[in-house]
Amino acid sequence: MKVDILAIGAHPDDVELGCGGTLAKLISEGKTVTVVDLTQGELGTRGTNLTRAEEAANASKILGFSDRVNLKMKDGFLQNSEEYQMQIVRVIRKYQPEIVFANSIDDRHPDHAKASKLISDACFLSGLVKIETTLDNENQKAWRPKQIFNYIQWKNVTPHFVVDVSDFMSKKIEACLAYKTQFYDPTSKEPMTPISSKDFLESLTYRAQDLGRLSGVDFAEGFTSEKLLAFKNFDGIVL
Ligand SMILES: [Zn+2]
Repeated sequence: MKVDILAIGAHPDDVELGCGGTLAKLISEGKTVTVVDLTQGELGTRGTNLTRAEEAANASKILGFSDRVNLKMKDGFLQNSEEYQMQIVRVIRKYQPEIVFANSIDDRHPDHAKASKLISDACFLSGLVKIETTLDNENQKAWRPKQIFNYIQWKNVTPHFVVDVSDFMSKKIEACLAYKTQFYDPTSKEPMTPISSKDFLESLTYRAQDLGRLSGVDFAEGFTSEKLLAFKNFDGIVL
């Protein structure tokens, strides 16, 4: 059950939009990635929770996630409650990830920043041995992920570091477009939303290109880190 990376998002599609290229890259290097969607995105203006679930399954196939779970929390009303924290603690202990990717620390959709704090607190609580949880009647072991990285979403949050996703940009866009009801589709009869515009779709590419311009690669995804990051060596740095 153990995975290298748990990528968590408030809504199905957050993970693909925020860090799809980085996850595709990590998977190509042999890492295992499981995705946790906190809500079903049931308040989304376009589509339904059913179309969203189907789209999430298609996106998972494109990116090669080993598993994807939905915690069915209440879309639009995420809160940093004990109930929600404990739901995430159980998932963290089940998958025992070294690294957790989480929503942006500040964003247009109020669920995103709330999710980032909720996930961060759950990661801490998951490491406390006196918090007891069970899964299938078995006691779970305490587990605290080593790193939490927050991907960037609607707002231009200044990243602490970027990942070169040049070879994985097309895969990321393909995974995002698997959410057919959510993004730009000139034939759709559904109401327009900020993320269904042509501009938003294009912004995925031009933002990655701009972060790439600043860091000397073709395309990059940016992250903030809770902890101060240390390099073991300089081998992975783009020169
Ligand atoms: Zn979202």
